[in-house]
Amino acid sequence: MSIERSPGVPEIETDPRDRIAEAREPTEKTWFRNLDEAVIEADRCVQCGSCMAACPSDSIGIDEETGRPTLVRMCTGCSRCWDFCPRSGLRYERLNGLEGSEARSAYAVSAAGDHEGQNGGAVTALLAGLLEAGEIDGAVVVGDGGDALTGEPVLATTRTELLESAGSSYTQTMQLGRVDELIADSGLDDPDIALVGTPCVIQGAAALDRLQYDDELASVTLTISLVCTRSFAYERLRSLLIGRGVEIDSIDSLEIDGGDLIARDDGGARLLTEDVEAFDAAALRGCAECSDAVGEAADISAGNVGSPDGKTTLLARTEAGEAAIDAATADLDPDELDETAALEGFADWNRRQAEASIPRDLDADAPLSITYTEHHDAYDGTDRAPESLNPARVHQYEEWC
Ligand SMILES: Cc1cc2nc3c(=O)[nH]c(=O)nc-3n(C[C@H](O)[C@H](O)[C@H](O)COP(=O)(O)OP(=O)(O)OC[C@H]3O[C@@H](n4cnc5c(N)ncnc54)[C@H](O)[C@@H]3O)c2cc1C
Ligand code: SF4
Ligand code: SF4
Repeated sequence: MSIERSPGVPEIETDPRDRIAEAREPTEKTWFRNLDEAVIEADRCVQCGSCMAACPSDSIGIDEETGRPTLVRMCTGCSRCWDFCPRSGLRYERLNGLEGSEARSAYAVSAAGDHEGQNGGAVTALLAGLLEAGEIDGAVVVGDGGDALTGEPVLATTRTELLESAGSSYTQTMQLGRVDELIADSGLDDPDIALVGTPCVIQGAAALDRLQYDDELASVTLTISLVCTRSFAYERLRSLLIGRGVEIDSIDSLEIDGGDLIARDDGGARLLTEDVEAFDAAALRGCAECSDAVGEAADISAGNVGSPDGKTTLLARTEAGEAAIDAATADLDPDELDETAALEGFADWNRRQAEASIPRDLDADAPLSITYTEHHDAYDGTDRAPESLNPARVHQYEEWC
């Protein structure tokens, strides 16, 4: 392993299940059905895939119709899906501290030479440089998902595969739950893998890594978080675009820039430019409760805020992040950023937005885990309260939970 992980953020000293065990009656368990009621049926799921990654019995799959988690076999009530879900049991802000982890260094970066990518192409160039320097064996990124609105997680092991996956996909893929399978399918033996994800995906990965709950995720030696304040539900985004007369097949790329959602064709011409807030109805409702716009649990954060057009802001948050940027310098054209006020202001704004939406307190000093009872206490009576199970699924739960 070449890039040693160095979280650079508070160690988690408590196993969340120990605390949960203390807080509950001995017979009380948290089952997937509880997660379903509190998160999925309550329309708060952000499709990060942490529950799927955390489940030791592989009982969670992806509902083909909704793209959300669903029970596919017996649930043992072990509580892990609950414990690692950033919309329920995982107090994600505890991973970083509410004011955020300090970045060790900051750069405005474009790929050296010609590049493809959403902004400066820095993430793709960084990964390609690391791959060719032998620092990593592959990277879990998001490749072509059939149209420009969606993507599919892939384990890229060549520069060509990385370039094919450049750009941003604004819908979620249950990515973390699919990492194990991608590694197994690759045939790589004990690989070192970089993971690129939205902050919620990185939160789940960081919690699983620090609590050493997932052997396959132990292959992830570098995490890169994309700056993010919202992601979209595919069908809702699609119908809003169609309603504006945009043909989905004619969209080559989407971007969010300066508060606008911009759709372009393959020649780069704009098909649509509109205030991204006009697409609020398509945003995942759970994203409003996310206060971690820059992915503070990651080794590196990457976004466009704070850099000129055509560059990516890269923040190295850990030693591993700094080492990775150093190791890939031949592929990067970095300018050191003395000033990160724009990104910090953006993160603060997002945190205030989250505080206004989330029914529980954001408290970076509280224990990492939130019990089912504590969740109910905070959410009951709000518009984000747990909902009854879908009647069509009740028979499954009778059989499996
Ligand atoms: C949902 C979403 C919202 C965002 N919102 C903002 C924002 O408000 N402000 C801001 O400054 N930046 C935002 N970004 C980040 C920005 O769009 C760029 O990803 C970032 O600046 C890196 O640009 P780049 O040219 O270096 O990346 P590229 O070289 O294009 O590489 C991007 C990498 O990310 C992977 N990827 C793309 N989409 C996803 C995804 N959904 N999940 C996991 N991996 C993915 C690609 O496969 C590729 O490997 C957002 C990104 C996403 C996915
Ligand atoms: S938010 Fe993530 S962890 Fe929670 S239910 Fe949805 S996919 Fe699972
Ligand atoms: S806003 Fe937060 S919860 Fe939503 S996709 Fe981005 S990181 Fe995940």
